[in-house]
Amino acid sequence: MCGIVAYLGPKNAYEIVIKGLQRLEYRGYDSSGVAIVKEKSVKVFKQKGKVQDLIDFTKDKDVNGNLAIGHTRWATHGLPNNVNAHPHQSGDKKISLVHNGIIENYSILKEELELRGHKFKSETDTEVLVHLIEEIYKNSKHNLFDAVRLALNEVIGAYAIVVISNEYPDELIAARKSSPLVVGIGEGEYFCASDATPIIEYTKNVVYLEDGEIAQISLKNGFKLKTIENQTKTPYIQELEMHLETLEKGGYDHFMLKEIYEQPQSILDSMRGRISISKGNVVLGGISDYEEKLVNAKRLIFIACGTSWHAGLVGEYLFEEIARIPVEVEYASEFRYRNPIINEDDVVIAISQSGETADTLAAIKLAKERKATLIGICNVVGSSISRETHCGSYTHAGPEIGVASTKAFTAQVTILTLMSMMIGKRKGTISNKRFNRLLVEMSTIHEKLEIVLKQNDLIEKIAKIYQSLVTHFIWGGA
Ligand code: GLU
Repeated sequence: MCGIVAYLGPKNAYEIVIKGLQRLEYRGYDSSGVAIVKEKSVKVFKQKGKVQDLIDFTKDKDVNGNLAIGHTRWATHGLPNNVNAHPHQSGDKKISLVHNGIIENYSILKEELELRGHKFKSETDTEVLVHLIEEIYKNSKHNLFDAVRLALNEVIGAYAIVVISNEYPDELIAARKSSPLVVGIGEGEYFCASDATPIIEYTKNVVYLEDGEIAQISLKNGFKLKTIENQTKTPYIQELEMHLETLEKGGYDHFMLKEIYEQPQSILDSMRGRISISKGNVVLGGISDYEEKLVNAKRLIFIACGTSWHAGLVGEYLFEEIARIPVEVEYASEFRYRNPIINEDDVVIAISQSGETADTLAAIKLAKERKATLIGICNVVGSSISRETHCGSYTHAGPEIGVASTKAFTAQVTILTLMSMMIGKRKGTISNKRFNRLLVEMSTIHEKLEIVLKQNDLIEKIAKIYQSLVTHFIWGGA
């Protein structure tokens, strides 16, 4: 998920946060925003598009203050627009929060909060969390830090968050679970960010928060660390030795390598909230209204281009084996120029990382004219394919910068696996025993991937052997 920057100290917080957001631009994002606290008042500015759009928008505004949080968003819940952009605020606008990740149980929490009178402005999972904090804060004698801590105990999902309030103009609250967050400790100033790139030019002393940790940071009282269960921890302050350029790539030589290593996490994110071992089920909420169509489909047609087409080839094996539905995998660019035979009871599944692949979009339109049911699998929320299809599933792999697809591909295969399992179970084409075994396999796949990725040196050696074989046979050893 995307970027967070926060600052508390004597300098102009807005300038540091904006510069930090620009440093995080390489991660990809769809909108950005800041919240600035000054003398017990808070101002929030948000804009769809680039950080530069946010800068232009705030040109004539008062952005002074010594406490600020900023965010670059990669939408998972709700379209990329000004309202859904972060920071989000409590109903009384006193508490502001930025969040990277996904709150899985947001809809249940939202319903409960609505019953208690909370009104929501955005479609995001994040806004629910800031209202939950407000609810706990107002109805208990807890301070803001404990209210945040208690709220996090009710949250299922992944988060890196930073919270500020105009009632606490000397306090940053930061917490993480399954989404990275770093705290920078400078001379009389503090920083938070989703990686060290925005921090390194100010201080090399950082604390990487661990899962389930929450930090209370104040100029007066310093840096305090606890677990969300209220156990005090001693922060491990480390000195960074990395350079900015290496940091941007997470310490890897190339974005592609970084994305390869992100796969255990991105696969986990694409399954988040969708599988339950205890209930023994798979639920893809985005397609549940069309589940019946899939169950009764005479055949499936996958349309895609490039790497997504290869994901479709794997999907063919999965659907035929698990859900016993015949599958055809079509290259979208060929499909659109033929006169393909498509029937009303065909289900067409369009796969695309960006959700903007022109050939795939054209093929969707053609299949729609012929009355097929269209399901999308894509990574970018609100993309054209997600709008043109009847329903779909987002892969939630996070932005992919490498041109050769890696983590987006494995996330697509993950969704196809879950989809075929869901349909196979409904149709009874997979035994309960096998389904449950697959469920366990899927829920532990990230651990296996970590082990595979540790074989990096061996994989490199094997790749070199193949490379020399290819050179030998194609070029005659030249
Ligand atoms: N789930 C949140 C949203 O859709 C956060 C996305 C992010 O990590 O940028 O707004």
